[in-house]
Amino acid sequence: MTTRMEKAPTRAVFWDIDGTLLLTARAGMIAWEDAYSASGDDRVFPPVRPDGMTDHQIAAWLLLGHPGPFGEVSESLQQQAEVLVSGYASRLPQVLPQRQGRVLANVLEALACIDREATLTSWVVTGNVEAGAVAKLQHYGLAHFFASVPGQPLRGAFSTRVEPRHAIVARAADAARRLDPSLQLSEMLVVGDTPHDIEGARLAGIPTLALATNTHTVEELDAHQPWLTLTALPEADAFRALLAQRFQPTTA
Ligand SMILES: [Mg+2]
Repeated sequence: MTTRMEKAPTRAVFWDIDGTLLLTARAGMIAWEDAYSASGDDRVFPPVRPDGMTDHQIAAWLLLGHPGPFGEVSESLQQQAEVLVSGYASRLPQVLPQRQGRVLANVLEALACIDREATLTSWVVTGNVEAGAVAKLQHYGLAHFFASVPGQPLRGAFSTRVEPRHAIVARAADAARRLDPSLQLSEMLVVGDTPHDIEGARLAGIPTLALATNTHTVEELDAHQPWLTLTALPEADAFRALLAQRFQPTTA
């Protein structure tokens, strides 16, 4: 275990969804394929690798035929991506029950543990569009851990346009600081399963706990120098202890 960033005790945990909290057994890809074919385009569905990509980045990949980077994109592409993402999100609630996905190990216990602590808050920081995040978290029984004010179904930040992932992380950090202006970046923790999560958090100035729970190995994640890499989310007591600790950088 290697820690590379100074870390104060955590007060706000920012959770990625896919591959970190849950796996949909590729139900999302069914929704993308349906939305793509309904868009009237008769090209073969491109072999996209969605892990860590935002929904709008996936839509841009489908529309342009390459995985980016997209940088500054035209308003026309933004609008086309929005149409495709809306089609995807509207299909998701119907396709989620078609696949046998699951909540990942120790997630329920970790979220419940944070929920009980007055000093800790869970936020969603996800490349999912908000409607997709709601569909997934409701289907897998996790939405209540992120319950927010009326009119905002989940506490967190979501994909809203074709943009780099760190813009989403920055919105989540801003939202957390609106709730508690004293919150420091070193008191925040992004939990994610891909290099995109690590890079997005780094650019937003927030440490990452990287979990090799999906398609990336510990070595692949560690190469991006997150604050900490683990094979899986620890059991609740160990996770709570990890959140409470203060870390100074050490050498690998
Ligand atoms: Mg993920």
